[in-house]
Amino acid sequence: MQIYRSPVVTLIARPRFLEPAHLSVQWVGQASDGEKLAEFAGRVCYMSQHNPAKRSTAEYLENIKKQGHGSVIEHAVYVLLIEGVSRSCTHELVRHRAGFGYSQLSQRYVDESHAAFVMPPAVIGDPELEAAWEEQMRIAQDAYVAAVEKLMRRYEWVADKSHRRKMAREAARSVLPNGVETKIVASGNARAWRTMLELRCGEGAEQEIRRMAVAVLRVLQSEAPALFGDFEIYPAEDGAEAARVQYHKV
Ligand SMILES: Cc1cc2nc3c(=O)[nH]c(=O)nc-3n(C[C@H](O)[C@H](O)[C@H](O)COP(=O)(O)OP(=O)(O)OC[C@H]3O[C@@H](n4cnc5c(N)ncnc54)[C@H](O)[C@@H]3O)c2cc1C
Repeated sequence: MQIYRSPVVTLIARPRFLEPAHLSVQWVGQASDGEKLAEFAGRVCYMSQHNPAKRSTAEYLENIKKQGHGSVIEHAVYVLLIEGVSRSCTHELVRHRAGFGYSQLSQRYVDESHAAFVMPPAVIGDPELEAAWEEQMRIAQDAYVAAVEKLMRRYEWVADKSHRRKMAREAARSVLPNGVETKIVASGNARAWRTMLELRCGEGAEQEIRRMAVAVLRVLQSEAPALFGDFEIYPAEDGAEAARVQYHKV
């Protein structure tokens, strides 16, 4: 049985900025396409492509965040593949609606007989708790396998085998626990990611989604520091990482 003790977050798509020649910006400093796209959008609002204050992209976007002019950062969309997270974690993630799109592993189509499980942060490190938890996951997985077998027999009359499997799996999955591992592709614009990160990196967030949000933050900070650099990751009193943001809900 595969057990995840931390999430795996991979950036799978980023913005590609195609600067129109007739409105070119006098750029200062280096920036990623997503950051340039946001600056370009902001400069269209005031037709300030000549960059009168000679601001770098980082300085320009700092001011955008300070002013709360958040709509201009909605143009930069980042797509992440998130693995090694539990169904309960993604259930919380998909509550973030504005500016997000999701595609998640289907438990109706995918056989979960060999599914992995995600150990809750609260369990990690206590050998007794870990062993008891692993045992519960094993029991649940065995129950799932047995249920699929029985349901496949019950639905023998269904001629289409893939439909029969789907009917068996969609019922059998009800015995799988919240801790079963899932994979999700989440696309979000920079403003939406910031709102989600602010809520889920906080010390009040549930521990697993907080761990995931901090991992997401690291990926986005390295990709676009001018959009996400005002988040500060710190070790919280409970021993886990959390993050606070300088510019609240831009
Ligand atoms: C610590 C914590 C505990 C939680 N506990 C629970 C719980 O016990 N039960 C539960 O059901 N949920 C719970 N949630 C989820 C929470 O209620 C939100 O659903 C989730 O955080 C998504 O936030 P959001 O709606 O701001 O995000 P998004 O849907 O991404 O929206 C972003 C922002 O857009 C605006 N917006 C979006 N949709 C609308 C709309 N329809 N009308 C007006 N403005 C809109 C709002 O300003 C909103 O903040 C919890 C969240 C956290 C962080």
